[in-house]
Amino acid sequence: MRVPMIAGNWKMNTTVSEAVELVRNMLPELEQIKNVDRVICPPFVSLSAVKELLKGSAVELGAQNMYFEEKGAYTGEVSPLMLAELCQYVIIGHSERRQYFGETGEIVNKKIIAALKVELKPILCIGEKLEENKAGRTKAVVTGQLEAALAGIKDISRLTIAYEPVWAIGTGLAATGGQANEIIGLIRSYISQQFNEDVAKDLRILYGGSVTADNTAEFMQQPEIDGALVGGASLKADQFLSIVKQTSEIRRF
Ligand code: PEP
Repeated sequence: MRVPMIAGNWKMNTTVSEAVELVRNMLPELEQIKNVDRVICPPFVSLSAVKELLKGSAVELGAQNMYFEEKGAYTGEVSPLMLAELCQYVIIGHSERRQYFGETGEIVNKKIIAALKVELKPILCIGEKLEENKAGRTKAVVTGQLEAALAGIKDISRLTIAYEPVWAIGTGLAATGGQANEIIGLIRSYISQQFNEDVAKDLRILYGGSVTADNTAEFMQQPEIDGALVGGASLKADQFLSIVKQTSEIRRF
């Protein structure tokens, strides 16, 4: 049985003191909620401080990106080894990284391999742009992204996939539950063909794109959707808590 996950991607928001305050506001309630893996992904500079706050709680920590080399002359970059001391998860291939920082499928693949090597759990983001969606290319785009990201990788048991249509991220225009369920079902079939049925059955696949407390139930009622990667709404304690609580109630087993 797949345990649902709600992960908050804070993007480039919060100073260290704001991050600490946000975690302090959420943590007492967040750590009580059962049946959902809860992950928060603050900016790099806040990972240490947030790690301290999360000590002894089941709430887990993730980074939003990393470089693929372990160390060396890569000014400004953060390595998998550095993150492995601080957190459990790392978001890889977010559409904002692909769009603004030129991340290609090949780079995403190197990052996934590097994360798995140090036992980080990657959250791989894939999703089509609006024009690709309108041209009926969604399936081709997401399977192409998966093929590139997972090239040469044999064991994906530590992987989570987030299907995030680019047109839904930060726009307030979420996909419908039905649309997201259909594409996530296609992603699962693709994984079943490329790996095997058991791997596909165990793989956690999230939806991301303008998830809020108001539309969470619509997504969590879908059989293929195992949780959400939440951007904007994860910066508001009451919204994030409500999303996690609703997920826990709907996906109870
Ligand atoms: C994201 O950053 O992955 C995301 C889904 O953002 P938002 O929820 O704000 O659309």
